[in-house]
Amino acid sequence: MAQNHCVVLDHRPGEDNVTSVQCFQFKECPMPTIEDGQILVKTLCLSVDPYMRNRLNQQTGTDYMSPLKLDSPIDGGGVGVIVESKSRHFCKGEILESFHWPWQEYAKYEVEGFNSLIVNKVESELVKNHVSLILGVLGIPGLTALLGISEMGHVVEGANQTIVVSGAAGACGSLAGQIVRLKGCTNVVGICGTADKCNFLKEELNFDNAINYKEDDVDAKLEEFCPNGIDVYFDNVGGNISNSVIRKMNKDSHIILCGQISMYNTSQPYPPPLDEETEQIREAQNITRERFLVLNYYDLFPKTLAELKELYQEGKLKYQETVSEGLESAPEAFVSMMAGGNIGKQIVHVADP
Ligand code: NDP
Repeated sequence: MAQNHCVVLDHRPGEDNVTSVQCFQFKECPMPTIEDGQILVKTLCLSVDPYMRNRLNQQTGTDYMSPLKLDSPIDGGGVGVIVESKSRHFCKGEILESFHWPWQEYAKYEVEGFNSLIVNKVESELVKNHVSLILGVLGIPGLTALLGISEMGHVVEGANQTIVVSGAAGACGSLAGQIVRLKGCTNVVGICGTADKCNFLKEELNFDNAINYKEDDVDAKLEEFCPNGIDVYFDNVGGNISNSVIRKMNKDSHIILCGQISMYNTSQPYPPPLDEETEQIREAQNITRERFLVLNYYDLFPKTLAELKELYQEGKLKYQETVSEGLESAPEAFVSMMAGGNIGKQIVHVADP
């Protein structure tokens, strides 16, 4: 019988600390045996995401996320294949995805009855041939970028708007910058953490300009790259970067409050309030800053995924992944993503179908 391994939470990092790989443990675990109404799945790919940082705390600070349990497998977005089924609704070989995929090489799911967990069959041939797409451009990051812009961006074709995207070279940001140009923004400026990422944004994704917040004077660069002010801000990071952007925003402009990763290693509530000076500017300029949560737009997912798929297949939306190999690399992949080690979507490749 094949061996099985999992990654469990060894200890919590503490709300105000950076997560280290020692918080996790990769270990052997029993190979599940299944009963009627259950399926055995082999994990193919896992997603590591910023929201998981909150789940490492005892209190997640939100009502829609539960804390991860100590000594239990981590769970998050994942995709896998059925290797054995004792359910008449599921067949061996079918590809499945879930928001609650355990960090285990092999796992069982209850798929019938009251205790069944939510797993969805992957029907798209495109995704079956490149399963990690469902964790990236055709999953939550793509949905977040497109719905964030369409629901909160107030982008108007022909209005010559300027958008700034922070966290611009990551999963959501890299897609948001491309989508917003397709929707009509004429000046797209990205903010990210390395020179390589800046080059990627300009050369591969057609951003007009990019700012390396670790080396550049962000205020001076915004002044240079946004001569007509800023109309839309897709905010993935918060903190000082966002303060600089908001200072340059035009009257009646809009912030898409997507995430605040610069605050995730602190005990700040979410969303954190702006500092007093920035809040005064926001109010004086009548800048909207409503929290955006993609899960609130569940009804729009099918239509939005169809649009994303079309844009991707037509080559209008480029999608980049940073892939780490093997389940044992998942803790390092998470820690690295939180520190900016990824370009595009950080994926953990566990096995082939
Ligand atoms: P990314 O792929 O963008 O990875 C995270 C990136 O954040 C890193 O690569 C790093 O890039 C950047 N970063 C880390 N620390 C800091 C810091 N202190 N200051 C500035 N940048 C930092 O992740 P996602 O695309 O998955 O998520 C991006 C944001 O979107 C997150 O805030 C996340 O919580 C949010 N999100 C919100 C959703 C919603 O429904 N509202 C849904 C999904 C995600 P760099 O090198 O540039 O520093």
